[in-house]
Amino acid sequence: MSVRCYVGLGSNQSEPAMQLRLACEALDGLPGTRLLSCSRLYRSKPMGPQDQPDYLNAVALIETSLEPLPLLDQLQQIEQHQGRQRKAERWGPRSLDLDILLYASQQIDTERLRVPHYHMHARPFVLYPLAELEPDLIMPDGTPLQHLLKKCAPVGIEALADMPAQG
Ligand code: ATP
Ligand code: CA
Ligand code: CA
Ligand code: CA
Repeated sequence: MSVRCYVGLGSNQSEPAMQLRLACEALDGLPGTRLLSCSRLYRSKPMGPQDQPDYLNAVALIETSLEPLPLLDQLQQIEQHQGRQRKAERWGPRSLDLDILLYASQQIDTERLRVPHYHMHARPFVLYPLAELEPDLIMPDGTPLQHLLKKCAPVGIEALADMPAQG
């Protein structure tokens, strides 16, 4: 059985636009998974340490038969494959970050995985691209996405072009 899952993508190292495009291809290539759509790219100010480049962010919608934890394993493998280096510093620069934002309408609260993503409600670079894909989305707790958008101004983000063409 397949479910719809939203994945947040971010990069601020090693050609971020290319990283996000490759990541979308890699998502489509996961077992039992296909990429249904991807938002435009958004340039956004870094969270945490400010002495790092701006980020590019996007949100992808996939349909997958992977269970949540195997999906997280696969996302972390994609991050590794694209040169992500795990550092002690929180929210430091990275070539690729893939977060599970929503997994069907499940609420998951384990040590390794919290879904919906614990901080998505406060992140314009997550909510605005998500709203491009599904403006009428209702969160698993019943909150309309539009309600979250009203409380999270699009500050520090700028929408860019569509995902660059392949090749
Ligand atoms: P943030 O989670 O605040 O966006 P981050 O993405 O920089 O920060 P990471 O270092 O990439 O954090 O991930 C730390 C851990 O978060 C991962 O090892 C993973 O086990 C855990 N995690 C919990 N919930 C999720 C989720 N929904 N998606 C991805 N990872 C998650
Ligand atoms: Ca596929
Ligand atoms: Ca993240
Ligand atoms: Ca992450």
